[in-house]
Amino acid sequence: MAEVLVYVDHVDGAVRKPTLELLTLARRIGEPVAVALGAGAADTAAVLGEHGAVKVLTHDASEYTDYLVVPKVDALQAAVAAVSPAAVLVPSSAEGKEIAARLALRIGSGIITDAVDLESGDEGPVATQSVFAASFSTKSRVSKGTPVITVKPNSAAVEAAPATPAVEALEVSFSAQATGTKVTARTPRESTGRPELTEAAIVVSGGRGVNGAENFAIIEALADSLGAAVGASRAAVDAGWYPHTNQVGQTGKSVSPQLYIANGISGAIQHRAGMQTSKTIVAVNKDAEAPIFDLVDYGVVGDLFDVVPALTEEIKTRKG
Ligand code: FAD
Repeated sequence: MAEVLVYVDHVDGAVRKPTLELLTLARRIGEPVAVALGAGAADTAAVLGEHGAVKVLTHDASEYTDYLVVPKVDALQAAVAAVSPAAVLVPSSAEGKEIAARLALRIGSGIITDAVDLESGDEGPVATQSVFAASFSTKSRVSKGTPVITVKPNSAAVEAAPATPAVEALEVSFSAQATGTKVTARTPRESTGRPELTEAAIVVSGGRGVNGAENFAIIEALADSLGAAVGASRAAVDAGWYPHTNQVGQTGKSVSPQLYIANGISGAIQHRAGMQTSKTIVAVNKDAEAPIFDLVDYGVVGDLFDVVPALTEEIKTRKG
């Protein structure tokens, strides 16, 4: 069976959920071989094995933390040379997309970014993408070289598929470019205790209708009752009510959760571009004609200052 390389996104050995989703998709195409780099790389093997990795290639070097993405591209290129995979799958984070693009260029392959689904095809893996602000869905495959495909978080379920992976050291020799861009400082973001926006299964967002930074407390309360991340429209971000890191949309982050709840957001095309692939969309808006209602699964016409706290209370009551 063909092997499929999966790039492992992890923090000191703790594997992030989008990588486990990639393993689910990789198993549709072939046998997943994971590539884990940097501090704690070997510690990822157990969880990767639980989700179907048959082999884990590891390499640790200070270059992975001291420099930007090129050392990781060097390592993935070495893995491609060692394995001759049927495809290389990378999570669609900002870093993942840069790694994938550089890798594809290096190995002379075609690339598909931001896939939302992946299936096996007669002539190689077929990826589904959502395009033109999710107005269309396309299916495509790479016709040149080893397909390099980045996949958006929440595109597949995390599935248990116990395997006992062989853990092998990957031989990597870094290119001259590897040390070209040095990391000079790392400032960890203050933790909110909420899930990462692009990875969250549920996102609760607020827009101009929230009408003030202090009012985002009710959006956060709803999010916390659901274990959700908080998003914001650009109007709310531009007004200084919520950080830009939480902006959803064309010039913000692209999210694809199981549930997206838009509060006081009109549904402009640029906002839709970042959330329209969400599995279930709910909107609360006092204007029954708001365009957001064209794409929702459930809509509440009402004042968010009444609806959102009532919803939060109801959820808390039902959770006991
Ligand atoms: P509005 O459009 O003003 O809508 C507010 C909504 O709140 C209205 O529908 C109103 O009925 C409702 N409302 C008001 N009060 C209440 C209440 N008490 N209860 C319930 N509902 C209420 N936008 C993004 O979001 N993300 C982007 O990444 C992005 N990128 C852009 C890039 C470009 C190049 C451009 C030109 C624009 C971009 N925009 C982006 C801006 C986008 O066009 C809209 O202006 C923006 O999304 C509007 O935000 P909003 O829906 O919060 O505000």
